[in-house]
Order: sequence, then C-alpha cells, then structure tokens
Amino acid sequence: MITDSHNHTCHFSADAEMSISEFLDACVKRNIKRAVITEHYDYDYPHKEIPPQTFDIAQFYDAFKLWKKLSTDVELCLGIELGYQPHIVDKIEEISNMLPFDSIILSDHLLEGKDVYFYPECYKKYTKEELHKLYISVLTEMADRCNGYDIIGHYDYINRYSKKRNTQVLYSDCPEQFDNFFEVLISKEKSLEINTKSVYKLKQKKCHNVMPDKEILLKYKEMGGKMITLGSDAHKESSVGICFEETCEYLRSLGFKTNTYFIGRKPYEEPL
Ligand SMILES: [Zn+2]
Ligand SMILES: [Zn+2]
Repeated sequence: MITDSHNHTCHFSADAEMSISEFLDACVKRNIKRAVITEHYDYDYPHKEIPPQTFDIAQFYDAFKLWKKLSTDVELCLGIELGYQPHIVDKIEEISNMLPFDSIILSDHLLEGKDVYFYPECYKKYTKEELHKLYISVLTEMADRCNGYDIIGHYDYINRYSKKRNTQVLYSDCPEQFDNFFEVLISKEKSLEINTKSVYKLKQKKCHNVMPDKEILLKYKEMGGKMITLGSDAHKESSVGICFEETCEYLRSLGFKTNTYFIGRKPYEEPL
C-alpha cells in the first residue's frame, strides 16, 4: 500500500475523532507503511463559535517526536494542512518555516469568507458551474501567491457538502480556470492532491461517477503535470487509506504511474 499523505488526529485537529494509537493501528491493518500527519492550521478562521482550527506549533512538534518513537511499523512523517485566506499569505510562509516539516498541504476551506461546511446556501446561490469556477479561481490565486507548501489539497472540496447527487467537479465546468490553475502548479513544481475522502463522499451520494474527472487529470498530464499525491483526509480510524485501491487502479488506467510523497519537503515517487 502506498503513502497516505493527509491525516488528522484528535490531539491537534478540533474536528478529528481518532487518537494517534488508533491511527497507527489503522495503518498497520491497511498495510500503510508510510503516513503523514497533517493537522489543520486555519489561521484567523472566521467561525469563532467553534473551537479554533489552529494549535500550538511547539507542542505539536514535541508530541510528534514521541509519536514517531511509538510508530515502529509505520514511517510517520511531519506534515500540516494550512488553510488559505487572502490576508494571511505571510502567516502561511511563517508557519511553513517553523518546523522541519516533511510535507505541507495548502487548502482552501472557505468561499466568500465562510467555510463551505457552514455555507450550504452557496449551493442555491450559484449554479454548479459558477461555483466551481469561483472555487478553482481562488485555488489558482492561492497556489500563485503562496510558496510554503508542497501539495494543493482537495481541489474538489467545494462540492463536499452539497446534498445534490451529481455534483462532481468537472473540467468542462470551467476549462479556462483549470488551465490557469494547472499552469501555476506545474510551473511551481507543486503536487495535485487526489483526495479519496472526496471519492468516498460521492460514493455515499450514489453519484454516477465517483472518481476524479478523467478530463481534469488528462489535461493536467497533457500540460506537463507529473505529480499527484494520494491522501485519505482521514479524521477517524475507518477512513485511513479509504478508497485507495480503486483510486490507484483508476489512476493507472489513465496512464499515471507514480504517487508523489514528500520527505523533508522534497518529492519522491513510488509506484501507484
Ligand atoms: Zn481540508
Ligand atoms: Zn484535511
């Protein structure tokens, strides 16, 4: 089983349920030999009514060093998931330099200043195409303005909380925006995350096609995109490495041969 580059524990991610020992047990059970802990760090998160989406960086590092000693069967890597907002670009750079991270995910959870999770009205306010156009434009701006990251997280987060059935993010929703997005990623040598929680969510909704859109992936490859990174975005034990096997098989069928993981912020390849 390949590396899982996106995981949260209850020790530092306010919305996660699993402890580090539950996580390590799940990795062993699913034959995941290498995994990255990427706790949420959404600085100046707008929803002040819920627990902060940040943590004490020094405390996290101390805990991680202990966890690493515990994890004899899994190569545990130090990561973080940094949440973007236009006014915190400097903060993102600062945090990315605070620890000797292996792997950094840069994500956008917000649309118009609200977490999509708390903004179900957006699915009524905009058509699917308008919404995806807006979101991919923000991802492009984020990828361009920030530097302290290795992977762009869940490009399809925007549809995660839609109750409609066929909400898959498609290349045809906003081709121009996708081309611009890929141009930035490729020129900056950053990796595109394939988030298997998104696959799982679409499966739950019984969407017709649950895999990342073929056209998105083929266009990325055609433009010169080489790096893709699998992450389960697990917040609980049962989600670690979720849908990995079928997603790998699908990616291989499209001609992708390797998964990119990061150690000490440098990319490495392993067969899919
Ligand atoms: Zn996220
Ligand atoms: Zn996450």
